[in-house]
Amino acid sequence: MSDSQELGITESKEHATGEWYAEVIQKAKLADYAPMGGFIVTRPRGYALWERLQNHLDAWFKDTGVTNAYFPMFIPESYLEKEKDIVEGFDPEVAWVTHGGYDELEERLAVRPTSESIITPFLAQWTRSHRDLPHRVNQWCSVVRWEATETKPFFRTKEFLWQEGHTAHEDGDEAWDEAMTRLDQYENLYEDVLAIPVLRGRKPDHDKFPGADTTTTVEALMPDGKSVQGATSHYLGQSFAEAYDVTYVDENEDEQTAHTTSWGLSWRSLGALVMTHSDDQGLVLPPALAPEQVVIVPIWQEDTKEEVLDYAEELALDLDEEFRVHLDDRDERNPGFKYNEWELKGVPLRIEVGPNEVDDEEVTLVHRPDGETETADRDDLDETVEDHLDTVFAKLKADAEENLEENVREAHSREDILGTIGQHGGYVKAPWCGDEDCEDPIKEAIAAEIVMVPMDPDAEPIGDDCAICGEDATETAYFAKSY
Ligand code: AMP
Repeated sequence: MSDSQELGITESKEHATGEWYAEVIQKAKLADYAPMGGFIVTRPRGYALWERLQNHLDAWFKDTGVTNAYFPMFIPESYLEKEKDIVEGFDPEVAWVTHGGYDELEERLAVRPTSESIITPFLAQWTRSHRDLPHRVNQWCSVVRWEATETKPFFRTKEFLWQEGHTAHEDGDEAWDEAMTRLDQYENLYEDVLAIPVLRGRKPDHDKFPGADTTTTVEALMPDGKSVQGATSHYLGQSFAEAYDVTYVDENEDEQTAHTTSWGLSWRSLGALVMTHSDDQGLVLPPALAPEQVVIVPIWQEDTKEEVLDYAEELALDLDEEFRVHLDDRDERNPGFKYNEWELKGVPLRIEVGPNEVDDEEVTLVHRPDGETETADRDDLDETVEDHLDTVFAKLKADAEENLEENVREAHSREDILGTIGQHGGYVKAPWCGDEDCEDPIKEAIAAEIVMVPMDPDAEPIGDDCAICGEDATETAYFAKSY
């Protein structure tokens, strides 16, 4: 491949979103396909994004009472079977270990598809009295789900990295608040770190996490009109505590059953990040996650090389303490090539310096998302860069917000739902009776489903009659195609 082929994205985000996405992931060196279908190799630049995201979320968890732990990746079949909903729910997706070396195991071991069935028994073991509660543990790990539908790097893989939090509480209110705290943190991660606005809601009953009382979700709208389930937080009620015997003695010496929650966010969030902000030049990253926040590209001729490089080095040194800055002083590449390469890699801000900038004691700043260019004084560069990075973030967020705002529509009949999603994609909200049967015709016709129902218990549905069957509507359903 020639240099320009290697750097150029050839697919169009607008016209071939899937191909474009795959190309950006590979050319920006985030991930490669593994030899086994449905698995990926996460390259250092991809893993760096995950690490930064992890750092944000992990700090928030720890600030709010969560501690990290680690449980085995294998779960005995008998443990899994204790929560029959979990077994039924995950059965088609569970990978099993049947042999250790040459010997068949006495009991099959599941590769964890999620860890309620191994963590909850230990929460039970650690709980005697109300004074032992609450428990709040989290683990950063990978899980395996043998997905039947088509896989896509980060969005849907058979093994994926995530965090799973598991908590046990004395009463239902506290457990519900816990589930909401985590949903808030997921929302903050999307909105304040990834620059992606989300809709909060709960899944319809027929699409809850197996065994959960309530599954809550943050949903993000991708530019191609499909929704992504960004993270989920489950209020599990007492079903898991009953199955695994998480009981405690209360203040009156009476035995009680605890209430539990679980909540998870996977590297699908990285898929949503790439899909939302990147463009036909490659990756676009928000400053908080970018491995390099600022790249300095010096532009010189032989006779100006020394002064330009000296100046560029000073700038890099100035910025080094506060920002992740890279000075691209490679001799063998021209500035145009460097621009393309750093654009492909998604660096939010580029600083260009040539002899003019040196003479005028200025810098030229270029924003990755839209190429907007500005000159600024070399003095107070820290503040200038900070302002520009904030502006880049604001631009990304505003674009994504506009996409979301423009793509929530209303419909009051089956034809209306089908036609609106068919024509525009996005979300269509419609009054709904709560019956799964009313989702079926939409699913069959255009593979769209109810991705969420707003959570406010007092909210009136947006119409009196279910858009599908005409019976009394009890809630407002958001239909969309989803990843
Ligand atoms: P769940 O345990 O099913 O509620 O999933 C928790 C979160 O993991 C979901 O909100 C998804 O964003 C994510 N997730 C589920 N399945 C996959 C997958 N196959 N690949 C990547 N992320 C996934």
